[in-house]
Amino acid sequence: MEIIETPSQMKALSKTQKESGKSIGFVPTMGALHVGHLSLVKRAKQVCDVVVVSVFVNPTQFGKNEDLDKYPRDIVKDSNLCELAGADYLFHPSANDIYGNGEESLLVSFPELSNKLCGKFRPGHFDGVTTIMAKLLSIVSPDSCFMGKKDGQQLSIVQRLARDLFISCEIIGCPTVREKSGLALSSRNSYMSEKQRADAGQIFASLSNFTIELLKAIDLDEKFKIQEALDLEAKHLQSGCGFEVQYFDFVDRNTFEPVREIKAGEFMICTAVLNGTTRLIDNFTININEAGKLQVDAGVDEMDNPFTILSREEVQS
Ligand code: AMP
Repeated sequence: MEIIETPSQMKALSKTQKESGKSIGFVPTMGALHVGHLSLVKRAKQVCDVVVVSVFVNPTQFGKNEDLDKYPRDIVKDSNLCELAGADYLFHPSANDIYGNGEESLLVSFPELSNKLCGKFRPGHFDGVTTIMAKLLSIVSPDSCFMGKKDGQQLSIVQRLARDLFISCEIIGCPTVREKSGLALSSRNSYMSEKQRADAGQIFASLSNFTIELLKAIDLDEKFKIQEALDLEAKHLQSGCGFEVQYFDFVDRNTFEPVREIKAGEFMICTAVLNGTTRLIDNFTININEAGKLQVDAGVDEMDNPFTILSREEVQS
């Protein structure tokens, strides 16, 4: 595996690969790689001839009081993991190469989408994400880009970005990889104490509980009181677990508008909580077809087996 440090080298390399008929798969990351990131690399390798992973801690997607300085960084470890997972190139540019000398003025933004859900609590975050993704997609020029469903709002926004900028790259959403407890793998999990990490399994339990109630209601052809079910889970996470719940919502996957009746479409049951000072997000995607059939994606375990959803009682017993 080769490490590429500048955008111009990366562009030249992509051009050469394309000229020789190779398809390029791209996995953008901020490093501190874990099995979740590596699952994206493996999927990219199955679909594309050449896989490029980027490691770039993007300063513009961090707010003033967020964890940019303490964000875990270990490029040696990351490059070893990338190589083991089958990546061909690691793109590791400097902030200066990407943004210039702080006189950056380009801002790619979806004002209506970027202020909802996480955007409400992280003003400017998604503008940073869309701006860096526009730049990275332009530099790497991949055929396919592999991103995690774990960051569901980010995935939908980047899919919209590629569509609206007419970028010829398919943005492929990949399942969330979870620990045994159901906790979604995240670079930020390293901030938590052992006790906080054990408590964090309750996020998965609450998403599961909501989904099970929804499935039951549909099965029995009963009216499902979405708001009541959301309130119950938010209360469990807030009062029962001691998290600060920023949102726990059932939304349209593309517009992020709250959904309060069961109908056909693509949805997310999604949440963001503060566990101590660690901010955790998670979601399941739920698709409902015209016949009322549900398809739930709750992610996979570290061996890539689909995760079974369990009610809160089942998780605790
Ligand atoms: P990050 O380094 O946190 O910016 O994440 C880079 C990519 O990895 C994003 O597309 C994330 O959605 C994805 N990702 C992060 N955690 C997971 C996970 N547990 N399972 C699958 N993908 C993930």
